[in-house]
Amino acid sequence: MIANSHDLLDRATLIHQQTDLAAYQDTGGTIMKHGEGVYVFDEAGNKYLEAMAGLWCASLGFSEKRLAEVAYKQMLELPYYHTFFAKSHVPSVELADRLLAIAPKGMSKVMFQCSGSEANDAAIKIIWYYNNALGRPQKKKIIGRVRGYHGNTVASVSVSGQPHMHADFDAPLAMFKHTDNPHYYRFHEDGETEEAFSTRMADNLEKLILAEGPDTVAAFFAEPVQGGGGAITPPAGYFEKIQAVLKKYDVLFLADEVICGFGRTGNMWGSETYDLRPDLVSCAKALSASYQPISALMISDKIYEAMVSESKKLGTFGHGFTYGGHPVACAVASETLKIYEERDIIGHVRKVGPLLQQGLKDLEAHPLVGNARGVGLIAGVELMADKAKRIPFAPELKAGIQVMEECHKVGLIVRAIGDRIAFTPPLVISAGEIDELLAKFRKGLDAALPRLM
Ligand code: PLP
Repeated sequence: MIANSHDLLDRATLIHQQTDLAAYQDTGGTIMKHGEGVYVFDEAGNKYLEAMAGLWCASLGFSEKRLAEVAYKQMLELPYYHTFFAKSHVPSVELADRLLAIAPKGMSKVMFQCSGSEANDAAIKIIWYYNNALGRPQKKKIIGRVRGYHGNTVASVSVSGQPHMHADFDAPLAMFKHTDNPHYYRFHEDGETEEAFSTRMADNLEKLILAEGPDTVAAFFAEPVQGGGGAITPPAGYFEKIQAVLKKYDVLFLADEVICGFGRTGNMWGSETYDLRPDLVSCAKALSASYQPISALMISDKIYEAMVSESKKLGTFGHGFTYGGHPVACAVASETLKIYEERDIIGHVRKVGPLLQQGLKDLEAHPLVGNARGVGLIAGVELMADKAKRIPFAPELKAGIQVMEECHKVGLIVRAIGDRIAFTPPLVISAGEIDELLAKFRKGLDAALPRLM
């Protein structure tokens, strides 16, 4: 890496997120300068195909002018306003209406925040508020899943099941519990079918609820496809069995659609793809194509009604962020949703998604690849030391990072989650660009191979 003035300044000044801070001081990173379609360019002029759409989010790629123009126009008209104290503004009202029109079944109200973490954090507060309103002050525990990812606030990191985000941050808080990671390929027993594995997952969830006491368990959080856990699609029958357990014990279900929402899985929502019937839905990222920081929490009528009665009792609903539902972010999000509709983005994902999935599946013939699995335009590729025996690489080999770094050298940005390589390209990626992605990934695998086997 060439150290230029921005790189040195960066190392001297910025605290990087989700980064090995000690190593970063020595190696520095890559400073991106501009974007064009599905590509980003660094300061030295190197071009990268962004197969992660940044952080699973830049759904329309990196140069959608309409979004910039809408933001500019809104900044001239009303650059800031809020929704506190019975005030509102046109962009938030229009976005609420547009979003609820396409929302998962049963969602009737929406609250805007600035990030996925905040939407999930607000959801946790609302779930507690709801159970207080219903006179069930003991029903407060929240269950997440091992390797689940729901954000980085104190509460959203607690429901997340990412060990590296808990370590030394004194997380998770005590009222957050975790059930199994439904990663079939890695954790099924020899001969166990997907359905049988899903039954085992649901049984373990039930055992956890019974051990904690059903009267103390308020909600379960899950991503339709587990993103930060490694782009893990649910095994057959999983959500059907899980939802039956939740219903049995009157446990609310939050579907975290922060990655899956807006077409990623080939339907508007991951909830549609996997037949989820959530009580709450959080979304962010592709809501604004990530051109502005905005998230939404949608809830069902039964929760809203309880909020209204509790707010009446207390005199207010005492929650809010200065920038929640910022007019510029709302205007950009509305324009994003219009673009999805006009360009039939879901139809496009259904057309090109199978090319990505088949291309990755074909790479199961590569010596490093144990399994490739995904849906729509999200996929995970599991690297394995011994495929026949399903033996992973020794962690100290950092096989995933080695492959990711080789991909970077050939101009492809992917993400290594342990030894799983994740793909979530911009939803606008073309068939030709998918071919390029696959060819570059193969090159990255080939380059890492001699050091790993
Ligand atoms: N939920 C999911 C499923 C995510 O993948 C993420 C971030 O990647 C979040 C929540 C947190 O969103 P944010 O980073 O906008 O706070």
